[in-house]
Amino acid sequence: MRSHRIAVIPGDGIGQEVIEAGKKVLSALAEKSGDLCFEFVDFDWSSQRYLEKGEYIPAGGLDKLSRFDAIYFGAVGSQDVPDHISLWELRLAICQGFDQYANVRPARVLPGVNSRLKGAESIDWIIVRENSEGEYSGNGGRVHQGFPDEVGTEVSVFTKKGVERIHRFAFQLAQSRPRKQLTLVTKSNAQRYGMVLWDEVFFEVAKDYPDVSIDRELVDAVTTRMVLKPETMDVIVATNLHADILSDLAAALSGSLGIAPTANLNPARTFPSMFEPIHGSAFDIAGKGIANPVGSFWTAVMMLEHLGESTAAERLMAAIERLTASGLQTKDLGGTATTRDVTQAICADIERQ
Ligand code: ATP
Repeated sequence: MRSHRIAVIPGDGIGQEVIEAGKKVLSALAEKSGDLCFEFVDFDWSSQRYLEKGEYIPAGGLDKLSRFDAIYFGAVGSQDVPDHISLWELRLAICQGFDQYANVRPARVLPGVNSRLKGAESIDWIIVRENSEGEYSGNGGRVHQGFPDEVGTEVSVFTKKGVERIHRFAFQLAQSRPRKQLTLVTKSNAQRYGMVLWDEVFFEVAKDYPDVSIDRELVDAVTTRMVLKPETMDVIVATNLHADILSDLAAALSGSLGIAPTANLNPARTFPSMFEPIHGSAFDIAGKGIANPVGSFWTAVMMLEHLGESTAAERLMAAIERLTASGLQTKDLGGTATTRDVTQAICADIERQ
């Protein structure tokens, strides 16, 4: 029996609902396989905890978390806590604390899902987001607060080491895919220091991967290419902020924010990696039981791949595709199914296979 210890952090809003659904699906998969099991340990790290106790992560929390095989994360964000506090105190504390420097975001139109984009069937991208530095380095400050001459700075930090490792990761990922194509996205015309370093290191690293075909875009231009020529791209590598924006666009183009998954990887495996749906806590639909759980199921597929459970990952992905093809869809995709309907349907499908 292969057993994996999973730390579960549902967090806020619909994170609670979709992660609960994801656990059910993973348990159904384990039960069906017979030689696989998951030990889930729940953590109540959320905005509610912050409001009650003044902290998202208790003392020694990261140390405890470091002993798990993977982290299954829902969402963080609350109307009662400023976003920059919730993001930095929980999600970024884990990503940066565990050196999860590669954020991987696949985008594909699943069977039966209607994209509003013409030609969307050809979307099959993986966006690689640098996840440890850049615009999210937390390097800045505010002085003269509250006075008319107040100043705020937000300094992006790009290190050669940080840039090189994300490029190598992206090249290796591109190399593992049939098309072997990698697009570099920066803004090195206007931002002439850190972004130029990104470009230079990219072309240096490219020499080690001659079988990968490469091209380069400015971040503004790539948005039009994603919409007008989606078939021309495969793997995309970009900075922390740029890739964050591009992956929301990619998710919307491929059908809904409710479908897309993310992996925050520590490729050296010195700490556990964290897996989460790309969407946030979505207050507008939280507690109504209508959140689309498919993003958390696809997230579970990425977690299984990382845990070396490739057969289970393939089984779950096939079940997800049968589910979307069946037309049973939540409101965000134009259907009327609830989170529970979708979860029950996929568990029943796994059971039948
Ligand atoms: P964040 O800042 O954390 O990215 P956000 O509030 O900007 O979060 P989301 O919470 O991701 O954005 O959601 C944006 C909108 O997309 C929501 O208001 C919701 O209507 C829709 N949405 C997001 N995720 C889902 C889902 N799983 N199922 C259905 N609708 C969703």
